[in-house]
Amino acid sequence: MTSHKNCRNVVQYIFGKGSSSQLQQVLAPHRSSGNGSAVVVVDHFFKKQEMTARLGMEPKDIYITLDSTNEPYADYINAIMADLRKDLNGKLPCAIVGVGGGCAMDIAKIISVLLTNPGPVEDYQGWDIPKNPAVFKVGMPTISGTGAEGTRTAVLTSKIRKLGINSDFSVYDQIILDPDFMATVPKEQFFWTAMDCYIHDVESLRGSMIDEMSTAFAQKSLELVRDVFLNKMDHGKLMVASYLGGCAVANSNVGICHPLSYGLSLVLGLHHGIANCIAFDKLGEYYKDEVVEFRQMMKRFNVDIPRNVMKDVTDEQFDRMAEATLKNEKPLTNAFGPDWKKIFSKDKVIALLRQM
Ligand code: ZN
Repeated sequence: MTSHKNCRNVVQYIFGKGSSSQLQQVLAPHRSSGNGSAVVVVDHFFKKQEMTARLGMEPKDIYITLDSTNEPYADYINAIMADLRKDLNGKLPCAIVGVGGGCAMDIAKIISVLLTNPGPVEDYQGWDIPKNPAVFKVGMPTISGTGAEGTRTAVLTSKIRKLGINSDFSVYDQIILDPDFMATVPKEQFFWTAMDCYIHDVESLRGSMIDEMSTAFAQKSLELVRDVFLNKMDHGKLMVASYLGGCAVANSNVGICHPLSYGLSLVLGLHHGIANCIAFDKLGEYYKDEVVEFRQMMKRFNVDIPRNVMKDVTDEQFDRMAEATLKNEKPLTNAFGPDWKKIFSKDKVIALLRQM
């Protein structure tokens, strides 16, 4: 018997400028389920009143304004869930709507899963752990690159590990891709996040776990990112690139850069996008042409990555970062093959980290 992955993609999408105004049309057939209210999980970047008007929300809908300063953390999510359960009083909402960047996308996924699966969020870190289908959810990304709107991964850090929830139940039932949301994203954040997509494409294409389906997603995504950053900016194209990059990486794997970035995020608290860029810039030995191209895009967009982020890092912290990196067996196998441990040693990882 073969063991090919049974891949789940987002079932429905709406794409186009101004499409966020169609949210209520999407929610209408679901309003009769649960208590009829939607839970809107929105990045603190957006003001509640502005969002209520823009999305046409109803007075009974519940807002959760997210502090996305830090990436999703278990204690924070458990606290949100305790408040939400109180508000819902034993009922389920009709839908969860995630509005924001990767953090909001992921927390909305997690909430939809936890509402129908009991216990703290830590119980679900790993692969295919939730048993019960989640609440219907809609994702509306407002910044592009992570591809979180298209994947079954919800990034999560707990006291002991950075390991996401990976379940078919965490895939959005519906996404609405409205490029108008991207007009107000701060320039640097825009770039770091977009480069997450570029790195997803490169790592999946250069890995051994890729098949024709993921190659098609990754190649088209890469073509769009290049077009946007080396030719002409187009928010719609970047939104599509992000979604396709997410599909590519979800059905193959990342490579060397993401494991290093997880170490950076865990110990230094750096966000995923910028941690990836800091790591990728030092990976010319593995991704030669792509690192050159990455630097071209950075120059053309007129941003620069922070230098010497390791200046106050202790030996003990380097050790923790290297260990966090080396825990990522699947991505490293994808990049180097089954004998990766012989090629990518702890000393090598620390030597790379020291350059950042
Ligand atoms: Zn990523």
